[in-house]
Amino acid sequence: MQVKPDHVVSMHYKLTSADGDVIDSSEGRDPLSYLHGHGNIIAGLEKELEGKAEGEKASVDVAAKEAYGEHDPELIVDASKEQFPEDVELKEGMTFQAQTPQGSRIVKIDEIEEETVKVDTNHPLAGMDLHFDVEIVEVREASSEELEHGHVH
Ligand code: ZN
Repeated sequence: MQVKPDHVVSMHYKLTSADGDVIDSSEGRDPLSYLHGHGNIIAGLEKELEGKAEGEKASVDVAAKEAYGEHDPELIVDASKEQFPEDVELKEGMTFQAQTPQGSRIVKIDEIEEETVKVDTNHPLAGMDLHFDVEIVEVREASSEELEHGHVH
């Protein structure tokens, strides 16, 4: 079976930064399964996996633009210091979970000023060129229920 739309792909993967730092990996875990052709994984990787067969390995570079997007300076927003719990010592580079217009995500303190804190609400991997080493473990047809839901069961 080959990777094509409306098929479920199971794969082992290792995600590294352009510098070679490991960001995420399925090592020691079950392979990751996703429904191909439904935008469930980043676009640049999905495109490269198209047509690959079971057992095949792929080494894929994905530019930031096709991964989590370029780093957008407009997504660095000012927050009042009062919005933070009093017992937390704020530090630059500190990350925390926050509600943003894009949903709940990990955000980072970019800069601490007199009254305000500049908070970077970009995706943590925004602006990063990514590298994936992937091994396709299994490709199967999706069930009609999976297709209806747009994800793997
Ligand atoms: Zn479902």
